[in-house]
Amino acid sequence: MNIKNNLKNILNSIPNHVTLVAVSKTKPVPEIMQAYDAGHRVFGENKVQDMVEKYEEMPKDIEWHMIGHLQRNKVKYMASFVSLIHGVDNFKLLKEINKQAEKHNRVIDCLFQIKIAEEDSKFGMSAEEASNILSSEAFSELKNIKITGLMGMATFTDDTTQIKQEFSTLKKAFENLQPLECFNFKPKTISMGMSGDYKLAIDSGSTMIRVGSSIFGSRNYTN
Ligand SMILES: *Cc1c(COP(=O)(O)O)cnc(C)c1O
Repeated sequence: MNIKNNLKNILNSIPNHVTLVAVSKTKPVPEIMQAYDAGHRVFGENKVQDMVEKYEEMPKDIEWHMIGHLQRNKVKYMASFVSLIHGVDNFKLLKEINKQAEKHNRVIDCLFQIKIAEEDSKFGMSAEEASNILSSEAFSELKNIKITGLMGMATFTDDTTQIKQEFSTLKKAFENLQPLECFNFKPKTISMGMSGDYKLAIDSGSTMIRVGSSIFGSRNYTN
């Protein structure tokens, strides 16, 4: 695996307005440092404990994104440094993020995860739930979070028509929510697209892709 080359190739193939989150989950620090030394600063992890360990070991100018399913009781461990939480899928979780962010006197940026895949295994809320939260009184009281957009994961399938449809569902949801913009809802990010489908995602309006195996190689979950 030539991590530096993989990274360069992907960066050269995507438009400037699209942010690349290098998904470093399961990868050891020396491999992630190869991407860092190539100039990359935005990394994504899906487990809080792993992200905290890597944050402590690695340079402090890294932007750490939490991309995985998040439990409320884990928020406190990363509240001091996490730069974007992609997978917010319920109001109770958002309230907890707000509470922990307040303790650190900061505002934590979050994305609402919308369920666009047909698989039951994928998390996320409906666009309607997102809309209900954003327009609620309770939401307007959360001064230490900011919803900066939406995140979604397409169904794991070879059917590109289906994948495109799911991505455009997310794009449409993003557009429909725009009128609700307020001090803590500033929609600018559509996080969609992974190693297998990021080109389709960008064609469908993605502004942030989360790519792991195409940069770091396939993951070995046994170690
Ligand atoms: C692992 C993961 C990715 C990256 O997947 P690859 O196929 O390795 O690019 C992206 N998003 C989420 C939420 C993930 O858990």
